[in-house]
Amino acid sequence: MTVTDLVSYEDALATYEPVMGLEVHVELGTKTKMFCGCSTTLGADANTQTCPTCLGLPGSLPVVNATGVESAIKIGLALNCSIAEWCRFARKNYFYPDMPKNFQTSQYDEPIAFDGYLDVQLEDGEVFRVEIERAHMEEDTGKSTHVGGATGRIHGASHSLLDYNRAGIPLIEIVTKPIKGAGERAPEVAKAYVAELRELIKALGVSEARMEMGQMRCDVNLSLMPKGSETFGTRSETKNVNSLRSVERAARFEIQRHAAVLSSGGTVVQETRHFHEDDGSTTAGRIKDNAEDYRYFPEPDLVPVAPSREWVEELRKGLPELPRVRRNRLREEWGISEHDMQSILNAGAVDLIVATTEAGADAASARKWWMGELARRANEDGVELAALPITPVDVARVAALVAEGSLNDKLARQTIEGVLAGEGTPDEVVDKRGLKVVSDEGALGKAVDEAIESNAAIADKIRGGKVAAAGALVGAVMKATRGQADAARVRELILEKLGVEG
Ligand SMILES: [Zn+2]
Repeated sequence: MTVTDLVSYEDALATYEPVMGLEVHVELGTKTKMFCGCSTTLGADANTQTCPTCLGLPGSLPVVNATGVESAIKIGLALNCSIAEWCRFARKNYFYPDMPKNFQTSQYDEPIAFDGYLDVQLEDGEVFRVEIERAHMEEDTGKSTHVGGATGRIHGASHSLLDYNRAGIPLIEIVTKPIKGAGERAPEVAKAYVAELRELIKALGVSEARMEMGQMRCDVNLSLMPKGSETFGTRSETKNVNSLRSVERAARFEIQRHAAVLSSGGTVVQETRHFHEDDGSTTAGRIKDNAEDYRYFPEPDLVPVAPSREWVEELRKGLPELPRVRRNRLREEWGISEHDMQSILNAGAVDLIVATTEAGADAASARKWWMGELARRANEDGVELAALPITPVDVARVAALVAEGSLNDKLARQTIEGVLAGEGTPDEVVDKRGLKVVSDEGALGKAVDEAIESNAAIADKIRGGKVAAAGALVGAVMKATRGQADAARVRELILEKLGVEG
């Protein structure tokens, strides 16, 4: 099935009701791995952060990372889940080269957290409740790199490289109950859910949850049922969708694809799908039938986890203000609409703007720079805002230079460009590039005089009352000062010198 065979979104929704299930894996930000003392720092040379335990060598024994368990409980509590009084790890048995033990240590029928919900706010302010089935602890696998093929996939590769640094890094898998009743808004709900979850994880301080770095990955399960039916259709599982926008697009594409298959009398195949960023389509991965059996059994080398109720209550008391509550508070403080707040959330800019105001900028300028110039740059470079090499302190400094009149907007953009290019702090960039606004009244006055002299006809028009014509003279002065003058001040000077009221 190709993209051109899709049923239009409107037609699909006129006939079918989508049912979604979202599975999100979050890599915890613990210093060490889940079952051994190996470091979790990103970017180390391949296979330098490994030990007999995470390589599954004979005789090695795992030990549970207490911070990992604590983080799992915090996530469970923030998702309004019940926390198990007693639960165990389980072995999920299967072979894959990136998994040295031949099983993944996970949880099966005894998750640490279960039966919760997360309320998510849609762009128009409506709140949609997403019910949570479970949140369980497990470990990440290693990483395979396929070399020699065109697409980085295993097909066509000449050989593969394995890095086990990631093997054993703690993961929390959060699984929703089937999400029904969202109708045409299903893709929006999926995106809003992942966005809200990301904010929640960050607020809890258990992970940076940076999707572009794979610290948070989403599988989008989707099926359709005829409107009015209560029987779920066959689902597809689109794996490892790595941005909010992609989550929305993947859900939308699958709705249209399923509808096309069903409307033409076909049968949806239960399979995994790969999502393609370039055209927003998905393609078939491996067939998955329900008979898949991982031979789960309780992990014999680890003691059960039995968090005391006192500990759980202590963690509950320590939970931070929840992101949705905080956003509503900030939205009122900043005096902006639901829609604007939603855009800020989707851009991952809430904390950046808060930090920028804490560094001295007013909220309006902080918002302007992060959601304008910087969002544009992040989009161009295909990274999240937080990954740009500029800090809230830098942005606050740029805003301050604009506020005091040392920079105009154009020069401020050049300053930001310099900071992003690694030329130093805003002050250093202004210095090196010579970006100060010409605020020397003498120099400015001279430039204005020259502009009036060489544009005598326009000057006469202005004297005669055509104030609008002043724009041409402002332009001439800005050109003469290479854009480094304060345009408003230039206009004032021109009118003053021509003896006209602004
Ligand atoms: Zn290790």
